Amino acid sequence: MEGTLTARDKVGVQDFVLLDAYTSESAFVDNLRKRFSKNLIYTYIGTLLVSVNPYQELGIYTLNQMELYQGVNFFELPPHIYAIADNAYRVMCSELNNHFILISGESGAGKTEASKKILQYFAVTCPMTESLQIARDRLLLSNPVLEAFGNAKTLRNDNSSRFGKYMDIQFDFKGIPVGGHIISYLIEKSRVVYQNQGERNFHIFYQLLEGGEEELLAYLGLERDPQLYKYLSQGQCVKESSINDKNDWKTVSNAFSVIDFTEEDLENLFGIIASVLHLGNIYFKEDDQGCATIPDTHEIKWIAKLLGVHPSVLLDALTHRKIEAKTEEVICPLMLDLSIYARDAMAKAVYERTFTWLVNKINSSLVNKSASSSPDFTRKTVIGLLDIYGFEVFDKNGFEQFCINYCNEKLQQLLIERTLKAEQAEYEVEGIEWEPIQYFNNKIICDLVEERHKGIISILDEECIRPGPATDLSFLEKLEEKVGKHAHFQTRKLAGPKGRQRIGWMEFRLLHYAGEVTYCTKGFLEKNNDLLYRHLKEVLCQSKNSILRECFLAAELKNRRRPPTVGTQFKNSLSSLLEILISKEPWYIRCIKPNDGKEPSKFDDLVIRHQIKYLGLMEHLRVRRAGFAYRRQYEGFLQRYKSLCPDTWPHWHGPPAEGVERLIKYIGYTPEEYKLGKTKIFIRFPRTLFATEDAFEF
Ligand code: ATP
Ligand code: MG
Repeated sequence: MEGTLTARDKVGVQDFVLLDAYTSESAFVDNLRKRFSKNLIYTYIGTLLVSVNPYQELGIYTLNQMELYQGVNFFELPPHIYAIADNAYRVMCSELNNHFILISGESGAGKTEASKKILQYFAVTCPMTESLQIARDRLLLSNPVLEAFGNAKTLRNDNSSRFGKYMDIQFDFKGIPVGGHIISYLIEKSRVVYQNQGERNFHIFYQLLEGGEEELLAYLGLERDPQLYKYLSQGQCVKESSINDKNDWKTVSNAFSVIDFTEEDLENLFGIIASVLHLGNIYFKEDDQGCATIPDTHEIKWIAKLLGVHPSVLLDALTHRKIEAKTEEVICPLMLDLSIYARDAMAKAVYERTFTWLVNKINSSLVNKSASSSPDFTRKTVIGLLDIYGFEVFDKNGFEQFCINYCNEKLQQLLIERTLKAEQAEYEVEGIEWEPIQYFNNKIICDLVEERHKGIISILDEECIRPGPATDLSFLEKLEEKVGKHAHFQTRKLAGPKGRQRIGWMEFRLLHYAGEVTYCTKGFLEKNNDLLYRHLKEVLCQSKNSILRECFLAAELKNRRRPPTVGTQFKNSLSSLLEILISKEPWYIRCIKPNDGKEPSKFDDLVIRHQIKYLGLMEHLRVRRAGFAYRRQYEGFLQRYKSLCPDTWPHWHGPPAEGVERLIKYIGYTPEEYKLGKTKIFIRFPRTLFATEDAFEF
C-alpha cells in the first residue's frame, strides 16, 4: 500500500540478509541507524549478531528478558545477545559438542560488556546444584579481578581491556556449568611505565591507594595520593568521575576471598604492585663518567623489603650490567639512559608475569575437583568466549597494532573457512545444489606475516639476534629485500607515486583484508626483543616473594637459552588459539561504537562506516547471501506462516514438508525463489520472505 509505512520502514529489518540492496553499504548503515534510533541495538546477519553500543542502560537485560529468550527459536524474537547465548547452549546440550562465541570490535564498542552479559545469562538460566554454586561465583568474580589488573582508562574507553581474553565455560552432561579456564593474550605492559595524556595506568594501582586499609598501605610503604607516583601520574588524570576506585577495591577484595586467594598470596601480590610504584619513583643521577647512580635509596629499601631481595644487590642490578666475556663475567656500569631502561623493563616484566600468575591462580580455582573425578567427566562440553582486540588503525601504528591486526587476520581466516565450510556442508546434507562463493582468502596475508623463515616475524627475529648493529631501519631494509615484491606489502621506496606521498622513511604498509595500515618500524626491535638484563633476572629469581620467584625461576628453567621473542610468542599463542577454536562451532558478535565521544543516541555515519569495513560485515553479508538468503526448518516455517493458507490453518496434520509445499504454492512462490531440502526450506531472495512477512503482519 502506498503511503503506509510497514514495520520494516520504521524499525528496519532484524536481519541484514533481508535487505534488498544487500551490497550497498548505505542501505546497511540506514538499517542500523533506523534501529539505533529506536534503541534496537541488535541486528542479525544470519546467525551473526551486530551490536551497537548504546552508551546508556536500556533495561533489556532483566530477568524477564532472560526468561523470554530461553529455549526460543532464533528468529521468533527480536535479535538479542541472549538469543546467541541461548542457542549456543541449546545446541551444545542437544548435540554434546563444543562452541565458541567470538566477540570483536574496536575499543569501546562493547565487547567486554557483551561477554559479561553472556556469562550472566548462563549464571542465571543454567540449571545449578548447590555444590556447584561456588564454581559459578568464581567464574563471575574472575571478571572484576582481571579487569582490575588488565583494564585501564584510555582516551577511547574508561574501562578498556588491555589484554585479549579467551574463557572456556565448562558444562557437565546435564548442562550445569561446572568450571572454567582462562587464557590471556598480550597484555599492554608498556602502560605500567608510561601513559598518554588523559590515560591511566591499570585500575588496580589506583584502587589500592584509594581503597586499601591504612595498615596495608603502611606495610607497603605507600601514600594515598596517586600524584606522588610517577608511574601513575604521567597521563595527568589520576581521577576519573566515571570510575569509583574505592568501591571497585571492595569488589576486588571480595572477589579475592571467593576465588581462594590466601593471605600470603595477597601479601605477595600487593608487595609486587607496591614495588612497581616504588620502582617508578627511583631517581637516577649521572656521575662524572655519565654512569647512573641512585642518590636516594629510600625506594630501593622498600622494594628490597617487599620483594625479599638484598638492597645492595638490587641497587647494583639497576645500575650495572653483567657481560659474558670468553671465560669470565665482566660487570660494567650502565649509562643513565640504560639504567632508566633497566628500571622500566623490570617494572614491566614484573607486572606482566604477575598478571600471568594471576590468571593461572584463577584457573586453578576454577577447576572443579568433584566434577573432574566424576565418571561423566569425559562428557564435559564447553562454550568459549573470546573477547579480543579488534582491528586497529591509528595515525601512528607500531608493533602493538601490527600484532593486533595480525591476530585479526587469523580470526578472519577462521571465519571465512568456517562460514563457507558450514554453508557448503549444509547444502550437501540437505541435498541442495549451489554455486561456489567467490571470496578473498586472506591466507596470503597471514603467510606474509607468519611464514617460517620468510614472513615478517621471522625477518624481525633474525634482525633481533643478528650480531652487529641491527636497527629498526635495517629491519625495514631487510623487509624490502625479502618481501618487497609481495602484493600486500609496500614501502615508500617500493610504492608508486601515490604511496610515496604517504609512507614515511621508517614505515611499511600492509594491505590487510580490512584495509591498508601503515606501520612505523620505530621500536619494533626493542619491543620484539623485550630485553630484561640478566643481572636483574637473577635478582628476581632469588626473590623471597614466592609469586615472583615462581614466575622468574620457571621461565629461566624453561628457556635456558634465549627466550622466544614477543612476536614469535604471540604467533605461537595465536596458533594454539586457532587450534582451540577450529574444532568448535562458531558464533559471532560484532560490536560497533556509534561515535567517538562515548555519547548515547549519537549515530556518527563516518565512524560507523569505518567499522563496517574493518569488521568485514559487507563481505560476511555477501557470503551469507550468495547461496540462499534464508533457510528454516519445515516445522518452524509452518508454525509461523500457517495462518496464510486455509489448508494449513489452524492445524496441519501431515508431514511438515508437505504442509510447507502446500503453503508456498498457495501464497505463490515461484520455483526459482526456493528449494526444498531434506529438513529445511531454502529461500533464495529476501524479498520473498519479506512479502510473506508483510502478508502475515497486515
Ligand atoms: P576495549 O577494547 O577498550 O576493551 P570494549 O569493546 O571491551 O573496549 P566495553 O568496555 O565493553 O568496550 O564498553 C565500553 C563502555 O560502553 C562500557 O563501559 C559501557 O559504559 C558502555 N556499554 C557497552 N556495551 C553496553 C551495553 N550493552 N549497554 C549499555 N552500555 C554499554
Ligand atoms: Mg574490553
